Amino acid sequence: MSLKVCKFGGSSLADAEHFLKVRAIINSDPERKVVVVSAPGKRFSDDVKITDMLLLCHSMLEQGLDIAPVFQKIRTRYKEIVQDLNIDIHIDALLDETENDMRTIATKDFMASRGEYLCGKIIATWLGARFVEPAEFLQIESNGLIKEETYERLGEQLKGDGLVVMPGFYGCTPAGKVKTFSRGGSDISGAVAARAVRAELYENWTDVNGFMMADPRLVENPKHIETLTYKELRELAYMGANVLHDESIYPVSEPGIPIEIKNTNDPDGSFTRIVARRPKDDRIVTGIAGRKDFYLIQIEKILMNKMVGFGRRFLQIFESHGVNFEHAPTGIDTMSVIVRKEFIGEQLPSILEEIKRTLQPDRLEVTDNLALIATVGQGMIRCVGFAGRLCTALSKRGINLQVIDLGSTQDNMIVGVELNDFEEAVRAIYEEFEQ
Ligand code: ADP
Ligand code: ASP
Ligand code: MG
Repeated sequence: MSLKVCKFGGSSLADAEHFLKVRAIINSDPERKVVVVSAPGKRFSDDVKITDMLLLCHSMLEQGLDIAPVFQKIRTRYKEIVQDLNIDIHIDALLDETENDMRTIATKDFMASRGEYLCGKIIATWLGARFVEPAEFLQIESNGLIKEETYERLGEQLKGDGLVVMPGFYGCTPAGKVKTFSRGGSDISGAVAARAVRAELYENWTDVNGFMMADPRLVENPKHIETLTYKELRELAYMGANVLHDESIYPVSEPGIPIEIKNTNDPDGSFTRIVARRPKDDRIVTGIAGRKDFYLIQIEKILMNKMVGFGRRFLQIFESHGVNFEHAPTGIDTMSVIVRKEFIGEQLPSILEEIKRTLQPDRLEVTDNLALIATVGQGMIRCVGFAGRLCTALSKRGINLQVIDLGSTQDNMIVGVELNDFEEAVRAIYEEFEQ
């Protein structure tokens, strides 16, 4: 029989009411045999995700503070779910043991992973399913990649009779220590499970009917996207369309397992399907996504174009500080690097000092309120004057462009705008290409 892996995100597991919807979805299709769960997310907009509370516990422990009051809130969330659904599990004992383990092991990854662990234990008991512990079978390399042997070992555990439940978000290091993916990483766990069991489909259940052409929090009622390619998804997700983690495509794209993003609150409604190739359509733009909080670091030096190795030396300064860069637009005598603020952290002053000392630029400028917007679509390359239309749409609203990068494949145009213009710029691009 063919198999479907279904991953339920934190928004689908926030409370008992959502648990009931999840159970109904699983029970409605006998092919839904492998279930991957996140930790309970927000029940309302000001609520706090379990994972955020666990990370708070970790920083409190580091500061020598008592985590008991915060853990009490975590305890209440799980106990409410168990009591509301009358689940036959020794929840106090499980929570006591978890609190104790957190104090003993105390690493950030271990503590953050307990949200998924507890949720997985509770759901497995409730559904009478087998619990698979990812810390035993899902090995994550230091570069975040998964080795082929892991898929085989995990596949053996996940296959077999009956339903299985695996917590998302974590696995283990090659040395056997609990390791988490980055935030939102249960999406990756679901993709790893799908490849491990050679699933026919990876269903990712969330709180929206799939991908919209733009973030519904920024654009009112954006158009729904029926089909996306893995590549378009990766570009949009990386640039902030966080409905799915951008790294989720690696495990599934090679074997060509499709992903469907569906709404737990509207299981029969529209959804987005992600595949390797999509038939050519008339759309120019598939989606728009953006991220805030970048630095643009620009240098200017007369005759830079004649200095062999200058660009390499500039980039090497970032490398030697362990900082990834996103884009590096260049001119004849200018070169810029765009980096995420979170990647550079406290290192900005020492990077700037090294640039001045080793490259002696005529001008060094840092823009610290840059937001980037990616406009993505396989139809862009066929659209004469695409870049002009996009820039005009922005200039009509008085939005100043800080930087433009039309990737070499011309299916992803990145523009940089000031932070204050971010929302307005997303709306301007959306309205221009909504069609
Ligand atoms: P989950 O709890 O299921 O992991 P997430 O919060 O990680 O869910 O992802 C779903 C959210 O992604 C939606 O509620 C929506 O606000 C947001 N989102 C951002 N960009 C988009 C987009 N282009 N289309 C749909 N949703 C988007
Ligand atoms: N619970 C984790 C987070 O909040 C992982 C996930 O939900 O995918 O980031
Ligand atoms: Mg998510």
